[in-house]
Amino acid sequence: MATDIVVLGAGMVGVGTALALQQRGHAVTLVDRKMPGRETSYGNAGLIQREAVEPYAFPRDVATLLRVAAGIGNDVHYHADALWPLLPRLARYWYHSAPARHAVVAQAYERLIAHCLSEHAALMAPADADDLVQKHGWRQAYRSQAAFEAAAAAARTLAQRHGLAAGLLDGADLARAEPALHAPMAGAIHWQDPWSVNDPGELVARYARLFLRRGGRFVHGDAMTLRIHGNGWSVATDDGSVTAAHAVVALGPWAGTLTQRFGYRLPLFVKRGYHRHYATEMRLAVPMLDAERGVALSPMSRGLRIATGAEFARHDAPATPVQLRRAEQSTRELLALGAPLEDPPWLGARPCTVDMKPVIGPAPRHPGLWFNFGHAHQGFTLGPASGRLLAEMLHGETPYIDPTPYLPSRFGA
Ligand SMILES: Cc1cc2nc3c(=O)[nH]c(=O)nc-3n(C[C@H](O)[C@H](O)[C@H](O)COP(=O)(O)OP(=O)(O)OC[C@H]3O[C@@H](n4cnc5c(N)ncnc54)[C@H](O)[C@@H]3O)c2cc1C
Repeated sequence: MATDIVVLGAGMVGVGTALALQQRGHAVTLVDRKMPGRETSYGNAGLIQREAVEPYAFPRDVATLLRVAAGIGNDVHYHADALWPLLPRLARYWYHSAPARHAVVAQAYERLIAHCLSEHAALMAPADADDLVQKHGWRQAYRSQAAFEAAAAAARTLAQRHGLAAGLLDGADLARAEPALHAPMAGAIHWQDPWSVNDPGELVARYARLFLRRGGRFVHGDAMTLRIHGNGWSVATDDGSVTAAHAVVALGPWAGTLTQRFGYRLPLFVKRGYHRHYATEMRLAVPMLDAERGVALSPMSRGLRIATGAEFARHDAPATPVQLRRAEQSTRELLALGAPLEDPPWLGARPCTVDMKPVIGPAPRHPGLWFNFGHAHQGFTLGPASGRLLAEMLHGETPYIDPTPYLPSRFGA
């Protein structure tokens, strides 16, 4: 089976890339071992985060580092045995998080994330997916007045600097806006630009169906069988070998396993995360981050999805849902939370890079091999925008934003 381009991985990034390449006239085959959108792009908090103009920096203040090291708080959890092998990458993450370097990273990041809503919008209507999306933003809520005031000041600056819409709600405003909350809170920042999706995996599935309706092909196969084949590439699938002039690796947290086989030592790591759905008596009006507890609360079609912060662990280490247990407890202080709706909880992994930017562009040493992965906390947001950037480079168009900060070659060949 011959095709122009094979895209490996059918998460939000792979499907977004396949659609953007197809739109430029290419015959595209999408390969995944599962159905589209069943891994990380299924399990996230469902936010299309237009406000996330600054990627998550590694904490640099001693108080936060000590708090995390002592296991205080719930936003970060770590496996001690994973830290030693991770140390060189965490050190580089820390280095790139210094305020001056982080500002440069954020400048590049903003140029890409600025397009997240318009690139999703261009797919949502033709994919008949508008019913999955709510366009009322999300709230970053605080329990203590001091934390709220500090966050509100930072949010005002960020919103002014980047032209973002952010409203401030005091405790009474928040209680009126969210009658489901039965405990008083100090207040919230309402990020009004972002969108939220009540079934993230279904959105990817609908985009994938749009790709099929437009003539694309999806086959089950193992991306790890990718081989050089003449001047192009081949991959083994359930429908036989697929050959193509170009191959795009969009394997999210599994990308490093494949790229290593071709000799690339990219500084990738994962931040794992958990979620679980719960029955609730009353739905939250919009998603809410219980910021001081590091818990994301997303009203989904299945129930309230409680999602956790970062867990530093080996990708394949057994699940340790400590953060989820604490998150459930602290959410019961705020809401009438019913029984969990699945067992065990979902576990996934955010695909991260040491400089907080995804890897988008040609593989430095293999003509026809392309990378699109490493979208960390915002891959669900960035899939279509990042797919467009990759497609423009592959197709030889002038890219709509400067791709230099994202090129794989920034890490050396
Ligand atoms: C708890 C949590 C909350 C999050 N919240 C948000 C949010 O609100 N907003 C946001 O923008 N982002 C969020 N993220 C991050 C976001 O989910 C990821 O960045 C994004 O889903 C990555 O997409 P992807 O397509 O690169 O990877 P994936 O969705 O993981 O897709 C990779 C695909 O590769 C396939 N694959 C892997 N190995 C093989 C193989 N050998 N052969 C064939 N196929 C293979 C997998 O089956 C999968 O379909 C969150 C993440 C977590 C964990």
